[in-house]
Amino acid sequence: MNIVVFTGAGVSAESGLGTFRDADGLWEKYRIEDVCTHEAWLRNPELCVSFYNARRRETLAAKPNAAHEAITRLQRHFPGTRIITQNIDDLHERAGSTDVVHLHGEITKLRGQRSETDTVPLEGWEQHYGDRHPDGTLLRPYIVFFGEGVPYFEEACRITSKADLLIVVGTSLNVYPAASLLHYTNDNCKIIVVDPGEPAMGDYRNRVVHVKEKASTGVPSVVDALIRENQ
Ligand code: NAD
Repeated sequence: MNIVVFTGAGVSAESGLGTFRDADGLWEKYRIEDVCTHEAWLRNPELCVSFYNARRRETLAAKPNAAHEAITRLQRHFPGTRIITQNIDDLHERAGSTDVVHLHGEITKLRGQRSETDTVPLEGWEQHYGDRHPDGTLLRPYIVFFGEGVPYFEEACRITSKADLLIVVGTSLNVYPAASLLHYTNDNCKIIVVDPGEPAMGDYRNRVVHVKEKASTGVPSVVDALIRENQ
């Protein structure tokens, strides 16, 4: 069985990383337009760097939760399972998952101005503004800002189009183009959504099994049932 897991901020919420729209979440002190748009980067790159330094510090202090761990179990039981995430954190990898496609970048890496994907790793939490990429250009966080292209979207669509089962975890399905990934499933693909809220499922609502639970309980129960059925 070809399984694809598609995750959003909700999978990391119980690890202490705020989701996008939490009233008391990480965006509380900042306006999105000031720190995570392409224009913000052009207008005030130092503010963007310090915003993402703070995010990196939180990410490094966070630990994977039971949902990340269950996804790793799933990947080990069903080799070839792919993970596509909108998250910039590295909690899937730290839980032991491999082959993770990060649609919106990775907080633990930096990139230059020339290439969207030619990244360099960063030790620790702090990017020093002014440091340069080996290509000579100014380093910036490896984050896909609003208003920028999503370089791995086509690969994600290709992976999704081959799925027999798509498990969607903790995403409001409001941020595009990532949210449109569901359109790339084939008609026979089963879709399970694990989310305590009401993601924007649109026309897919009738095709979806909605497990209305938090990731830390909903994902392990879905994964354990799949593994049991396959034994
Ligand atoms: P979103 O904030 O738009 O939606 C979060 C979803 O998670 C909601 O549907 C909510 O009901 C659900 N949720 C809340 N708590 C949950 C829990 N305990 N278990 C399962 N689901 C839970 O997030 P999004 O759809 O991922 O889009 C937000 C954008 O912000 C993405 O582009 C993402 O890259 C970025 N972001 C990333 C992180 C991260 O890397 N950890 C954190 C915040 C935002």
